[in-house]
Amino acid sequence: MAANLLKVAGLRVAYGGIQAVKGIDLEVASGELIALIGANGAGKTTVLKAITGTLPQCRVEGHIDFDGQAIKGINSFELVKKHLVMVPEGRGVFTRMTVEENLLMGAYIRNDKAGIQEDIEKWFSFFPRLRERSSQLAGTLSGGEQQMLAMARALMCHPRLLLLDEPSMGLSPIMVEKIFEVIRDVSAQGVTILLVEQNAKLALEAAHRSYVMESGVITMNGNANAMLNDPRVKAAYLGEE
Ligand code: ATP
Repeated sequence: MAANLLKVAGLRVAYGGIQAVKGIDLEVASGELIALIGANGAGKTTVLKAITGTLPQCRVEGHIDFDGQAIKGINSFELVKKHLVMVPEGRGVFTRMTVEENLLMGAYIRNDKAGIQEDIEKWFSFFPRLRERSSQLAGTLSGGEQQMLAMARALMCHPRLLLLDEPSMGLSPIMVEKIFEVIRDVSAQGVTILLVEQNAKLALEAAHRSYVMESGVITMNGNANAMLNDPRVKAAYLGEE
């Protein structure tokens, strides 16, 4: 196995004339939980989209390796087969399918029927709201419920690398806690996670290491706990003096 499960080198992404990502290097070792934080528009989502090959109209330059293999340009459908999956901002659930069908879709690369049912049961126990709504169309769920479903669906493929874009967005404080409990749990089970999050405090508390992104470049990286106490991070991202 490669030392770094994910290795991004010299990544540049341009939308038309706008250079959104200006040559970044980022490495995620197997088992790590990495937080990518930064202000609105810094380019964080663009980095995740570049990794998962979901930027069709853009120019993406640089190297993206997953488990030692170049994956730049490989689409997200193929990446799921490699157990690399993203939960996008705005959830991305299949709105015209039921909750249960969404979970089954998440497991489309598996054929262990009994295991799939066990996993569905596991997530229904963890998120009882999803069980209650198992035959409801996903598009009719609340934002928080869709977020739970999107997360559970991604986990159904037994990811090796999970990319999370703003998982706390739009959720009530109790749901944010619940989602972070899942993130910590999944991380403790050995899944490698790259987490983009507006809530820098929560992200840094959960993460092992962190990268700070500003205007398309990485400006800091290091131990997440140390960053929580860094005066520059405190002033810019934690609302503290
Ligand atoms: P946020 O926290 O607000 O989601 P972000 O750090 O994830 O921000 P991105 O969404 O990656 O930032 O956006 C980076 C820059 O690229 C922004 O200036 C944005 O306006 C621009 N951008 C993003 N998507 C597109 C697009 N499809 N076409 C043109 N410009 C885009």
